[in-house]
Amino acid sequence: MQNYTTNKIMEGFYSIEEGFVRCFLIEGHKEALLVDTGVGSGDLKKYVEEITKLPVTVIFTHADGDHTANAARFERRLMHPCEFDYYRSRNEKAVSMEPLWEGDIIDFGSYRFEVILIPGHTPGSIALLEREKRFLIGGDSIQIGSIFMFGNGRNFEAYRASMKKLQGRLKEFDTVYASHNVLSVEADTINTLYTAAGKVMENKVSGRPEERFDGKVKCYETDGVSFYAV
Ligand SMILES: [Zn+2]
Repeated sequence: MQNYTTNKIMEGFYSIEEGFVRCFLIEGHKEALLVDTGVGSGDLKKYVEEITKLPVTVIFTHADGDHTANAARFERRLMHPCEFDYYRSRNEKAVSMEPLWEGDIIDFGSYRFEVILIPGHTPGSIALLEREKRFLIGGDSIQIGSIFMFGNGRNFEAYRASMKKLQGRLKEFDTVYASHNVLSVEADTINTLYTAAGKVMENKVSGRPEERFDGKVKCYETDGVSFYAV
C-alpha cells in the first residue's frame, strides 16, 4: 500500500505527505536533508530512496510521535538536546541523536538552513530558516490547524516568547511550511499566533470541549488559528 505522496514545492524541495502529517525532503549537491520522519504508516526510508539517491541526514523539528517514527531506519539523525528527555520518555525504542544547536548552519549547497530554537509546543522545537529562498520550516508551531498545547512539556509562555523571537526575523522570510494542515502559510501568521496565544493565556478566549480527547482538553480558536489546551 502506498502511504506517501510527494509534492514538489520548488527545485530540489519536496513535501512528503503522509495523511495528516508531512515531512520535507531537500536535495543538496552531495547530500539530502529529510525534515522529520512521520507517523510510521510505511517504510519511509525506502520511499525516500525512490526520490533521491543521495545520502540522507534527518533533522527533527521536534519529538512528537507523528514526526519521529522510522527514525531508526536512518543513519544520521539530529535533534535539539532540549528535546532528548521528551523523546526518550515517549519511545521505548529511542535511538541516539546528534545534537543540533541554535544558530547552527546546515549547508547542503543548494539550500542553507539556520536553526532557530522555538520552544513552547515542545521544549526543543526548532524552525529552519532558508534566508536566500525566503522560507521557514516551522514544524507544528506555525500552522493553520490546532496546535497541541496540553500535556508534559508544553508551555504557552515559552511558545509566545518563541513567536516574538520569530517576529524579530520576519524581514528574512515570506512563507512558512507547516507539518500539518495547509502546506504553506504566510509569515504574517506568526503575528496572528503571537496575539492569539496571548489571548488564550489571558483567558480572553473561551474553549470548546474537544471530544476526541478526554473531555478536559478544549479547543481555543481565535483570529483564524487555534490551540488545544486544558
Ligand atoms: Zn505534529
